[in-house]
Amino acid sequence: MPLLKLVFLGTGGAVPKSDRTLPAIYLEDWLGHRIMLDAGEGAQYRLMQIDVSPASLTLVAVTHSHEDHVLGLPGLVLTSRFLGGRLMVLAPRSMHDVLRRLGVEVADGYEGNRLRIRCVEVCHTVDACGWLLEWDVGYKLDLSKVAGLPKWALTSLIRGEPVEVGGRVVTPEEVADPAHKRFRRLLYTGDTAPCPNMWRAVEWVDVLIHEATFADDVDPRQAHEEGHSTVADAVEAAKALKASVLVLTHVSARYPDKERHRAYAQAVKPPPHVYVPEDFDALLVKL
Ligand SMILES: [Zn+2]
Ligand SMILES: [Zn+2]
Repeated sequence: MPLLKLVFLGTGGAVPKSDRTLPAIYLEDWLGHRIMLDAGEGAQYRLMQIDVSPASLTLVAVTHSHEDHVLGLPGLVLTSRFLGGRLMVLAPRSMHDVLRRLGVEVADGYEGNRLRIRCVEVCHTVDACGWLLEWDVGYKLDLSKVAGLPKWALTSLIRGEPVEVGGRVVTPEEVADPAHKRFRRLLYTGDTAPCPNMWRAVEWVDVLIHEATFADDVDPRQAHEEGHSTVADAVEAAKALKASVLVLTHVSARYPDKERHRAYAQAVKPPPHVYVPEDFDALLVKL
């Protein structure tokens, strides 16, 4: 069953607080991928606190070069290496040279084991990638259309591969249940101002993890000039992307707690599920 586990290791931005550390999200999927999204300072220790070894990570995807998102990366890469892991880092192209000089294995996307990850350009003050994760969950077959086909053919069709049976080619599209959604998507924005490029490039997602540096006490124009979003901007993005789950993170240290974010999100009518997690909160999402 497509199930995601998300642990929000750091939900602050720029300036940390003792209970709101710098951006890092741990994501584990039902296929065994273990991914960290951004690596704020101390990310490896917070990972260890939830009993995940840095060596067991499949990859780390960093959104941009601002210190609050990358200071934890060198330690994470070194520890993984000492423990025999081989950590791949996804980063915007402009960061590749610097990371390679640090001996990091770096790429701008990933494809393997039914998961594809790609960069979606977002609107920040430096070159920045939102990361789109797309899982291929295969086709659900319409049983009335596959009667008589052998089991091996059904397995291939579910995986999206056409088959040839008795001289006839059958494609998954012709025998699939049209109501079934083949792909599941999660987008993590990192830092961004409202960014129409995002929904033009992506169209829809199931889960949107969007920055909401500010609540309703800051002039949105100021937030946007700084390359950031308010809660209302994040909710707008979730609507444009038809997300059913919205998570708000990267909350400025100016807020003593997140109640203002929560109240504001409700006031601007979020998608069915909206969360403003604290550090170490975990979320299980059935996709
Ligand atoms: Zn930031
Ligand atoms: Zn930034």
